[in-house]
Amino acid sequence: VENFLWIKDDNKRLMMQNLYNKAKADHVPIILDEAARMIDSWLLLLKPTRILEVGTAVGYSAIRMALVSPISKIDTIEKDLDRAKEALENIQHFELVEQIILHEGDALELIPEMTQEYDLVFIDAAKGQYGRFFEDAMKLLRPGGVVICDNMLFHGFVEAEEVPKRYRAMIKKLRIFHETLMNHPELETRILSIDDGISISVKRG
Ligand code: SAH
Ligand code: MG
Repeated sequence: VENFLWIKDDNKRLMMQNLYNKAKADHVPIILDEAARMIDSWLLLLKPTRILEVGTAVGYSAIRMALVSPISKIDTIEKDLDRAKEALENIQHFELVEQIILHEGDALELIPEMTQEYDLVFIDAAKGQYGRFFEDAMKLLRPGGVVICDNMLFHGFVEAEEVPKRYRAMIKKLRIFHETLMNHPELETRILSIDDGISISVKRG
């Protein structure tokens, strides 16, 4: 499947292909293709006006969401300053500064200070801290709003019996986060095993 055929503008499509290729070459952990297409589809259905993204990296997913859903305003948070700098350059290059607002800093500090209400929250940052990002972001999510999380199965380890030692603490936290989502009284959640695992949770309206 050609990844960017949905971008009708030839120049923008080429820019997107270049952004994608560079991110891959630099080993930036951008959202995988199948999961990205799933999110595209949800955006097309949901038509969110306000999106909060936790984990910008170099801006690939934010730019993709902005192109798929031009009516959406996106706040995106990145704590790595080099990545944030590159993300800002990319956002400017795509002329999306009106649509995407980049917040440099630690989401654990920034989200509690935010007051804007969001229709959609996309969590794609440090896997061991999903529970904390989620708890903070949940307060900003409108009734009927949606939380999407990437890397929920983390290379299959979340559901595996044997987990390499270096991942054990993080996987344990991700498993607890699964439980949090599945048992949450205000949410309906499904976890899909496409790519690295993606969850979609809808908040009661
Ligand atoms: N969403 C991006 C990929 C994000 S990769 C895309 O698909 O294109 C995860 C990013 O989260 C990394 O760049 C990392 O620096 C950032 N991150 C990790 N913990 C964070 C935190 N506490 N606050 C803000 N950003 C964080
Ligand atoms: Mg990810």
